[in-house]
Amino acid sequence: MHLRLPAAPVRGLSPLAAPGVVERFLRWRHARTAMQVPLFAVAVAMVVHGFLGPQLAPRNLATLLTWVHYRGALVLVLLAAGNLFCMACPFMLPRTLARRFFKPTLRWPRRLRSKWLALGLFVLILYAYELFDLWSSPWWTAWLIVAYFATALVVDSVFKDASFCKWVCPLGQFNFVASTVSPLEVRVRDADACLTCTTHDCIKGTRDPVDPAVVLQQGCELGLFLPKKTGNMDCTFCLDCVHACPHDNVVLATRVPASELWVDPRRSGVGLFSRRKDLAALAIVFAFGALVNAFGMVSPVYAVEEWLAHRLGTTHEAPVLGTLFLLLLVVEPVLLLGLAAWLTRRGAGTREPLVPVTNRFAYAFIPLGFGIWLAHYTFHFVTGLWTFVPVTQEALAAIGVPWLGSPNWRLTGLSPGLVHPLELGFLSLGLLGSLLVAHRIAERDYPLRAARAFAPWAGLFLLLAAAAIWLLYQPMEMRGTMLGS
Ligand code: SF4
Ligand code: SF4
Repeated sequence: MHLRLPAAPVRGLSPLAAPGVVERFLRWRHARTAMQVPLFAVAVAMVVHGFLGPQLAPRNLATLLTWVHYRGALVLVLLAAGNLFCMACPFMLPRTLARRFFKPTLRWPRRLRSKWLALGLFVLILYAYELFDLWSSPWWTAWLIVAYFATALVVDSVFKDASFCKWVCPLGQFNFVASTVSPLEVRVRDADACLTCTTHDCIKGTRDPVDPAVVLQQGCELGLFLPKKTGNMDCTFCLDCVHACPHDNVVLATRVPASELWVDPRRSGVGLFSRRKDLAALAIVFAFGALVNAFGMVSPVYAVEEWLAHRLGTTHEAPVLGTLFLLLLVVEPVLLLGLAAWLTRRGAGTREPLVPVTNRFAYAFIPLGFGIWLAHYTFHFVTGLWTFVPVTQEALAAIGVPWLGSPNWRLTGLSPGLVHPLELGFLSLGLLGSLLVAHRIAERDYPLRAARAFAPWAGLFLLLAAAAIWLLYQPMEMRGTMLGS
């Protein structure tokens, strides 16, 4: 099923009664800007409220919208559609405006063309979130948003293309990894049409025929050449390729979620998954980071931190948390994945090194990791769904425009008990996805002994899913909502 952009009407994909409306909107050259502007306005409101509003997290738009609503909506949209948050990313708006005046001349340094920097920043955000209790500080959350806008602006003012999105943005990497299990993908409609295409506008951009120095429509700034593009990795859903292709040959299409994880073609702009240690590490940290992030919110973490502090002989949280992160995001995955790879090697009767085996199976962790993020963030989102209403009412009243009436603090969300079945469902879905992907990889790489190669990974996924279910049933801090204040 294809959502043709531009061309035929949409059937079955549109959330609207009139399917063509979505398609016509996405065909519009300014569709991305139209999505970015309202999100930019919301981000400005969050920053202002974070600095000047009440410094109680559940009553501040900066903390509430960032840590409850944005994260919950993000994972649900990734599950239901795709990387729509990158598509509407407000951080790109000032950068796009700035590029009308400053044309960057430098290319992103070759040595930094990997995900290691973004992976480090991703871990740093998880660490800072716990260390500084970002969820409880409107002021620091506002600073985080400002820092994000500033970094995107500086990086993309100095370096060409979408350097920030591709090599720096930790949120983007989260979206890239998670969108590998999304049901939508940007791809070519007819591969044969690309064979006879001589201009390759989808990557080079559309030039003015009179003055070729003038770019009428930019091509893919992420370096994805559409005929060789596979899956959603590194795709921001910006739709530049759709507007650039002169043959109307790029579509937003449905596909089997996660199917890109068990194939290993040479992907344009990405290369072979099996050769990318940085991407494999990103997939692993994505999955184990989901557990760490959830673990940070349940009461047993305090007992573990106390024990660690005693062992380290310190009363400072930073080294204790640093050690915990090291144990859970490095030591634990290395030991567990190393053991699984060793058992796979034994089961398959090969003598290959452990690292390539681990590399190939690392992508199978993504569905389970996504299931854990989904269960966790949906919990906070659904239990605090309506909390933004009274906070917005109060914020408007504070600036003398009480258009929405006085705050109704009874508006909250579903009770936590009602959300548990949903969480279990998401976890089960993630577990099934990981089992399926690992089995397909085992069949692909060890056709004669697939079951034996698969078994260690299945055991590991069951273990991680059991850990996630245990976390789910621990009393969880209701961060960012009144229930947690
Ligand atoms: S997607 Fe369009 S521009 Fe790109 S190679 Fe195919 S036909 Fe040419
Ligand atoms: S231009 Fe590149 S990043 Fe944007 S939608 Fe097309 S393939 Fe994805």
